[in-house]
Amino acid sequence: MAVPKRKTTPSKRGMRRSHDALKAEAFQECPNCGELKRPHHVCPACGYYNGREIIAPSY
Ligand SMILES: [Zn+2]
Repeated sequence: MAVPKRKTTPSKRGMRRSHDALKAEAFQECPNCGELKRPHHVCPACGYYNGREIIAPSY
C-alpha cells in the first residue's frame, strides 16, 4: 500500500489550506424593493426581475 514518505510540515499544510476558505455570498440590492437579493436571481421579496417582470411574491 502506498504510504507518504514523510510527515506534512505545518508550513506545507498551511499552504495547501490557504485556498480552503469560503467566500462571502454575493448579494445586491433589488432595484424594485431595495431588499438584498442574489445577482441574476428573481427577488424573493417582490418577485421582480429585469425591471418589471413579476413572477411570484413570496407571501
Ligand atoms: Zn425586490
